[in-house]
Amino acid sequence: MYCQVIVDIAHEDVDRVFIYRIPEGLTLEVGMRVHVPFGNRKSIEGIVVEITDSCDLPEARIKDVKEALEDYPAVLPELIGIAQYIKAHSFCTLTQALRLMYPAQMRGQRIHEKKQQAVQLLLNEEKTYTEALEKQKRAPRRYAILEELHGTENGEMLVSELCERLGNCRDALRNLEKSQYVSVYEKELQRKPYTEIESLSAKDPVLTEQQQSVLEKIIPAIDNGKGQFLLYGVTGSGKTEVFIRAVRHTARQGKTAIVLVPEIALTPQMVSWFRSRFGEDAAVLHSRLSIGERYDEWRRIRRGEVHVVIGARSAIFAPLSNIGLIIVDEEHEQSYSSDRTPQYDARVIGQQRCLRSRAVLLLASATPSMRSFALAGRGDYTLLEMPERVKGRSLPDVHIIDMRKELSMGNKSVFSGQLLTGLTRCIERGKQAILFVNRRGYATFVSCRNCGYVVHCEHCDVTMTFHSVGNVLRCHYCGQEMPVPEICPECGSTHIKYFGVGTQRVEDEVHKYFPGVATLRMDNDTTQQKDAHAILLERFRRHEAQVMIGTQMIAKGLDFPDVTMVGIVAADAMLNLPDYRAAERTFQLLTQVAGRAGRAETKGEVFLQTYAPEHYSIQTASRQDYRAFYESEMARRRQTKYPPFTVIVRNVYESLDENKVHEAAQSGFDLIQTFFDRRAYLQKYIIYLRVMPCPIYRIQDKYRWEVLLSIVDLPVCEEAIGKMSEIAGIPVDSVASVCQINPSGLM
Ligand code: ADP
Ligand code: ZN
Ligand code: ZN
Repeated sequence: MYCQVIVDIAHEDVDRVFIYRIPEGLTLEVGMRVHVPFGNRKSIEGIVVEITDSCDLPEARIKDVKEALEDYPAVLPELIGIAQYIKAHSFCTLTQALRLMYPAQMRGQRIHEKKQQAVQLLLNEEKTYTEALEKQKRAPRRYAILEELHGTENGEMLVSELCERLGNCRDALRNLEKSQYVSVYEKELQRKPYTEIESLSAKDPVLTEQQQSVLEKIIPAIDNGKGQFLLYGVTGSGKTEVFIRAVRHTARQGKTAIVLVPEIALTPQMVSWFRSRFGEDAAVLHSRLSIGERYDEWRRIRRGEVHVVIGARSAIFAPLSNIGLIIVDEEHEQSYSSDRTPQYDARVIGQQRCLRSRAVLLLASATPSMRSFALAGRGDYTLLEMPERVKGRSLPDVHIIDMRKELSMGNKSVFSGQLLTGLTRCIERGKQAILFVNRRGYATFVSCRNCGYVVHCEHCDVTMTFHSVGNVLRCHYCGQEMPVPEICPECGSTHIKYFGVGTQRVEDEVHKYFPGVATLRMDNDTTQQKDAHAILLERFRRHEAQVMIGTQMIAKGLDFPDVTMVGIVAADAMLNLPDYRAAERTFQLLTQVAGRAGRAETKGEVFLQTYAPEHYSIQTASRQDYRAFYESEMARRRQTKYPPFTVIVRNVYESLDENKVHEAAQSGFDLIQTFFDRRAYLQKYIIYLRVMPCPIYRIQDKYRWEVLLSIVDLPVCEEAIGKMSEIAGIPVDSVASVCQINPSGLM
């Protein structure tokens, strides 16, 4: 027997299968990891992608597989297919794509199961318990051990636990083992994430009519193994309950399900919801797990011990077989697409897995992405709608506040009069409030009020950002820190201050206006530790604070029944970002944030402060009018020739050498030009093609250039995208290059 192996070297030259002989006595399956000799190396890791019983090569040239690394396939055959799909569509090597399918630490055997010694009572008809006790009557320790073990459910106990109860009893154990009353062995221990989070009530609510009718479409699809849905449900319409019922139905059919959630902030709550309904049947995969926990969860899934996997982006590669349902919650989130190599989009991978496993795809959002909604319009997805909140609760009243007027009236505070009144009312009623501060694009930089000097990073062409914790300036691109200067290095003035509104500043203001009111702050600074998110959210839920102040991480999916007021301190901070999706992002974020208010009986109120009150994304978000936003935005994208009508491909070059990087970008540009020169039929689809310095010209001392292509999104243009990627892959001495497709934020 022979097998085809992909070796674990991410280089194009070896991006193909190599044939090996399977030696006598070794059983291999497709997807197993193996050690094979390669070139002049004695041994290298690889993955078996096919097994054959014949081979065209002369016997003498074929080498033997050395050994299998596990006794099970680490990569399910179905996932090999997915890796091949990724290779074909994101222009990486198969090895790079395969590496997505199993924990990184398995490579080089850097992780192992956690094991502990356990002991098991060995009894049978000939060796009964009474007889065993009788024999050990004169050995009190051994006698006690037998008693302890007999008292457990299955006669098994950890040795450490036994010693804790009886004092050191290892000699006695050895003795019992010798006479075969017990066996002592290594037992695998499971590292379990989230044991500390108390689970919520696990009772099933009665479904609303909307939930019922949506499920009536989804459930038959699960049974038939076919269907792709986009669930557009306003915030608070009860999408989670739909997920839970659909997943449960799937599990009852003996099939499995993946639920993708966007971000850490959402995970603890979603996880405890699912855990309280599915218990041990649900596994969790996300980036905050320790390596050990992640590995153990992965293996639990791989062994088929769970029906449900909940996780962030990479959980789409969970090694589940027999998938019946894949759910992508908050499907509009950009975190579902990875722009690291290999680039992939979890929604697209989900679709592929569904097609291959005859499973149902369910994308859901209160603010669907332009792309998904357009696909639903075309009939690629079945659109399901939940336009109303659970139990007839109304959407919050949104007040748009023009901050330019506030300023002209002499109000220089971060709060408008209206927001302050609303907050006072909420606090007096004993309810809770959320104040949202959008930090993205609203850097709190330090500048001199006298001469205008702004503190820049020494290594990057960006301003340093002020951090109240430690009172330091930090560069967000390279991490460099420096103290805040007391006098301006340019003019010597002492009027050097930080500008922009940060969470700390807002918290200080709340304390000033409402002394004695407890607050919580949730931002990058307060959530560094493991589980910090979960702990802060839990404290807010328990009313340890009345006001929570936070950044985007509080925007999504959180459900706090007592929050009746939401203040959006600066709604338009991200409208001016150099990203064609700025309006879409603004709409999504505002709708999601506003959706946190009034989710229980009391109606919610939202105060939205802005300097651009007439902007369509702010107007439509204030009414939670997705369709109106969608129409305006699609019209604008069509007119300005942006995705989904076009594809933007960007090759970024970086180097410490300013000349070399320019040359490299220029020659990349020349290559793509030549490519287009030979394909006249493509030229009419080019919107623009240029080579230029990046908007941020220097990061971490490296100079940066880019080749930017915008081309109409048609199948015939895919070749050009592939060419761009291929060009970025051409190695240039001391210059790094990557190809980004529809990049977010051109920095
Ligand atoms: P969405 O994700 O659509 O914004 P959620 O799933 O968070 O909404 O649901 C909003 C709230 O309504 C939650 O508190 C949830 O527990 C509650 N809820 C959902 N379905 C029902 C139901 N059928 N009956 C009562 N309460 C429900
Ligand atoms: Zn100055
Ligand atoms: Zn820097």
